[in-house]
Amino acid sequence: MPRSRQAERFCNSINPPTYSSASYYFRDQEDVISGLHEKTITRGRYGRYNNPTWDLVEERVARLNDTDDCLLFASGMAAHVTAFMTFLEAGSRAVFPSECYRQTRNVFRRILPRFGVEAVELSIRDPQSFIHGLGQLEPKPTLVHLEMPSSPHMYCIDLDAVRSAVGGQAVISLDTSFAPPPNLMPFHHGIDLAICSATKYLNGHGDIVAGVVAGKQSLIDRIRWHRDTMGAVADGRVAELLMRSLHTLEMRIERVNSMGMRVAEFLENHPGVHSVYYTGLDSHPHAELAARYLRGHGGVVTFDLPLSRDETAKIVQKMQLPYMASNFGAPQTLVEQSTFFTYFEYGDNELAEIGVSHGTVRLALGYTDSVDEIIIDLDAALKR
Ligand SMILES: *Cc1c(COP(=O)(O)O)cnc(C)c1O
Repeated sequence: MPRSRQAERFCNSINPPTYSSASYYFRDQEDVISGLHEKTITRGRYGRYNNPTWDLVEERVARLNDTDDCLLFASGMAAHVTAFMTFLEAGSRAVFPSECYRQTRNVFRRILPRFGVEAVELSIRDPQSFIHGLGQLEPKPTLVHLEMPSSPHMYCIDLDAVRSAVGGQAVISLDTSFAPPPNLMPFHHGIDLAICSATKYLNGHGDIVAGVVAGKQSLIDRIRWHRDTMGAVADGRVAELLMRSLHTLEMRIERVNSMGMRVAEFLENHPGVHSVYYTGLDSHPHAELAARYLRGHGGVVTFDLPLSRDETAKIVQKMQLPYMASNFGAPQTLVEQSTFFTYFEYGDNELAEIGVSHGTVRLALGYTDSVDEIIIDLDAALKR
């Protein structure tokens, strides 16, 4: 049936309205029974449990990921922590990559161990030894958390090999913030949960903080109870903005994929640049894995300058076009010198451990900028 002739829904508004009610009423006792006791309808409950605008965006994100269901959260970190707490308890073992998002690393290193979780840290820099390390673990982990590509070096993981290394029982979660659909389809590779900061590419307008967890129904149902209880929920307006953003996700990703490739190739051929980390380049240490798993390589390009911290800062400062800020997937181009921003509290030993130097710069291309102008700007800044 043509959409224009469908039965009236939302007073024929093409865009759904935004719900922001703290609670929802029941019409009668029967409604209470189906809504509350049997949960056969999602209508009529309380704002921490249900919101019709969440439902729409969650359905959309689940479909984009080609999986059963999805939950919206107040932030990417809220999504991560709620998912981890669902499957871990005192005495259980979790695995996380040394190169994962800094705050995720803090959760595994400094928070979960306080509750008796044994968190095992493995580096993904050498993909084979990561898989080997996973296979060696006895007892087997309850949860294996992955992130791909990682920041700032865009390291990759052999996703298909993870399941056979850890056996059928482990819950495997993957942080897909840097490669949301269509660039990476985690559920085609044995992943159980895709956890994503919607603040980044998914929303892509730099105007909300939110997170999502997508996956199989049985797992999402368990996480839902924990979200209901712990309450790290977003509100209806955040869901509305995210819903609007998802209309353009594919277009935005396509555009930054091509911008990223152009800028990465420019930097790779620039004599003043020591190395470039972009999974679309053959020179990336994990190019083979990237070619196997990624359909596009996104708009974040990391490069190393053979310079001191101050010399690098001067070059970053010379750039006219990007904002000096941490984020990616936003409309505007952003730049950060890694040791000034994300890793400013790290000592030289810790920096060496994660392979970040004072000359490491991360450029997050904004889809509203012209790639030619970005290249001209970079070229001018790199002239010494
Ligand atoms: C930003 C980010 C997060 C955290 O998401 P928030 O929405 O900021 O809480 C987690 N993982 C990665 C890879 C990120 O880039």
